[in-house]
Amino acid sequence: MKRIRCKKCNNFFNFTTMDDTICDICKKKELDEINFIRTYVRDNYGITISDLVSDTGIPLAKINKYIDSGVLEFKY
Ligand SMILES: [Zn+2]
Repeated sequence: MKRIRCKKCNNFFNFTTMDDTICDICKKKELDEINFIRTYVRDNYGITISDLVSDTGIPLAKINKYIDSGVLEFKY
């Protein structure tokens, strides 16, 4: 098993798959954030991405990253 540094918190963690660039703790945090956004989008039907950014304070780049990687669905 290989140990690499987490891209987010800089802590070492066990690298298991090719797309592992962040540790489990950061992954969990990201998942919580994604779930939060999903709920927010569902509860505020028709919300735009810019509204989402200003309402939640989550950076646009991050939201776009979630959408690009397919973990978050957003209907424009
Ligand atoms: Zn981390």
